[in-house]
Order: sequence, then structure tokens, then C-alpha cells
Amino acid sequence: MELSPLLSGNQLSSLMQTIRQSKRIVICAHRSPDGDAVGSSLGLADYLQTLGKQVQVVLPNPFPDFLRWMPGSHLVQFYIHHERQATRIIDQADLIVCLDFSQPGRLQEMSVAVQRAKAEKVVIDHHLDPDLKLGSQVYCFPNLSSTCEAVFRIICQLGGFDSLSKAGAICLYTGMMTDTGGFTYNSSRPEIFEIISMLLTKGFDKDKIYRNVFHVFSIDRLRLTGYILYEKLLFFAQGKASVFTLSREEMQRFHFIRGDAEGLVNMPLQVKGMRLSISLREDTERDVVRVSLRSTDDFPCNRMAEEFFNGGGHLNASGGELPFPLSEAVKTAERAIEAYREMLG
Ligand code: 5GP
Ligand code: MN
Repeated sequence: MELSPLLSGNQLSSLMQTIRQSKRIVICAHRSPDGDAVGSSLGLADYLQTLGKQVQVVLPNPFPDFLRWMPGSHLVQFYIHHERQATRIIDQADLIVCLDFSQPGRLQEMSVAVQRAKAEKVVIDHHLDPDLKLGSQVYCFPNLSSTCEAVFRIICQLGGFDSLSKAGAICLYTGMMTDTGGFTYNSSRPEIFEIISMLLTKGFDKDKIYRNVFHVFSIDRLRLTGYILYEKLLFFAQGKASVFTLSREEMQRFHFIRGDAEGLVNMPLQVKGMRLSISLREDTERDVVRVSLRSTDDFPCNRMAEEFFNGGGHLNASGGELPFPLSEAVKTAERAIEAYREMLG
């Protein structure tokens, strides 16, 4: 099976020329970077380094601890920790590649620095409705599993498969795996498995990657899961929707660290007939409630996120935030569920 080309001939030559002309390249991804954001950044960095480029990955804020094992992750700079230094690196870049987002707002505090930079900007993403002004080249593929998949296919089109290292392959595999919940959703296109088999020729243990990401709970994290499921889960629309909240006080009680909320919102969907799960969590840094939505089949989380939670995302996985307390946020969630009651079936 041949991978179908993602970029047209013109797009490919523009991208090639841009890369050829750039010496200093900055790669950035969205705030609260997930496996796909970090994986695509490190995977692309790996490839660009084989071309002799000076590459720096700059992310707005840190990623969860369970991604720290990823090869190359110790070289990532975090904007919120070293604002001046990061701004200088961004200012001096010839090329900025934006990965896994296509709305400048998703960079939050880093957005001004990136938008102001004189560098040429290339966007590679798989979200809906890209802001075409974000870069001079915006390559957005909403039907792909992940940005890592897009990056891999573009690297192949650029003729870079052979030079991609094992470390780079590990990073790209990781993002494909995390954005599809370990290949349990958004992952039925046969090409995905063609890509996996190509990546595996680089010689890594994919089962170990799964354990590194999904089986690294602390005991506190395991107990937090029990607490949420037993005491905090609220059900609506005859068991077709659920909502839970997580406050800062509760996070402290379970010695919460960054990443501990990851995956919790998926769990209520294990209930037969459950179509929608909403998590409302107090942000640890800012006075907002972070919202995560997950759904099954054709229930449009992204529409609900846009309409009720100042956010967006994919059909089955979206997010947003609300600028008021948890108690109010629950009411918003209830209103959202009421408004979509018919679609919940
Ligand atoms: P999570 O629930 O894992 O934070 O986010 C799930 C998905 O929702 C992300 O992959 C992203 O596509 C989208 N998303 C999360 N937060 C936001 C947000 O604040 N704004 C927008 N537009 N999309 C978001
Ligand atoms: Mn993604």
C-alpha cells in the first residue's frame, strides 16, 4: 500500500524551498501540550536536524510528566519559564513551524511573540477551521488522526523517511497513539496502520510506549479516579450524558500533578449508551474552569464547545474554558446538555 500524497506538487515545492532557505527554525505547539503536540514537535525537530538546521522547540507551558521520557524532550524551552530568552529565539528565527493548532489564541501568552515575529510561518495541523492568516503556508488535515500523522507523511513526501531516526519515529508514533486513545478512536483509516508499520521498521517497542504513557499512574492518581467515579459523577439525559467537576482543593487532596486529569473524561463513556462526557476542572494557574468534552459516534462535541464553552476541537474530543466558578460552570454544562438533548438520542 502506498501512502497517498498530502501536499500538492506546488505546496511541496513551496515547503521545500522554505526549509532550504531557513537556517534557524523554531517549532511551537499549543498551550498545555499533549502527546500529539509534543510528539509532532520533537519528531519534526529530529528530521530538520538531520538536514543540518538549527532547531529549537518552544512550547507555551510544560507538558505532563508522563511525556518526559520522550527522546529530546529535555531540550524543549517553555515560554512561561523563560519569556525573554524564548522571545529572543522566536525573534531570530527564519522559520516558525506551528504544530497541532491553527488558531493563534491557542498559544495564549506566547501568541504575541509568534505573531509579531518576522519569520516565515508554516502551520501543520488537523483541527477544523484553521485561521489561514496564521501562516504563509497553512496545511490543515481535519480527517487525519493526528498532527504526528501529518508530519510523518510530509516528511515522507520530502524524501526524509530514511533519515528519520528511531528517536523521531518514537515521538511521531506516540502522538498518533495518544490522539487516538491507543488507536481506539479516529483510527480506522488503513493508512494509519501502514504508517505504524513503517515507523516500526525504525526498531522501537510500541508496547513499551503504551506503558510509558498510559501505565504510569501514581497511587494518588488511581485513587483520584476512584473518587471521581464514585462520588463526583453526575448523570443527565437518562444516562446519555455525564458531568464531573474537580476543584483545586480536591486536586491538593490527591497531590495532583500536571497530567493527572488526562484520560479521566474518557471513563464515563465506558458506560453502555453514554454519548457525552464533560469534565469541569479548576485551572491550577489561572482563574478559569477548563472544560473537556468527549463523545461517541456523530455527537458534535466541537459544536457544543464553541456554543457553550468558548472552545472547539474535534467531533468527538473538544475543550474550552469558562471564566467563572465551578458551581456556575455546572449550570452551563446542564444548559448545554439540555440544548443538545435531542441529538443525544
Ligand atoms: P482536552 O480535553 O484534551 O484538553 O482537549 C481535547 C481537544 O479539544 C484538543 O485536542 C483540542 O482540539 C480541543 N481544545 C481543547 N481546549 C480548547 C480550547 O480552549 N479551544 C479550542 N478551540 N479547542 C480546544
Ligand atoms: Mn492533535
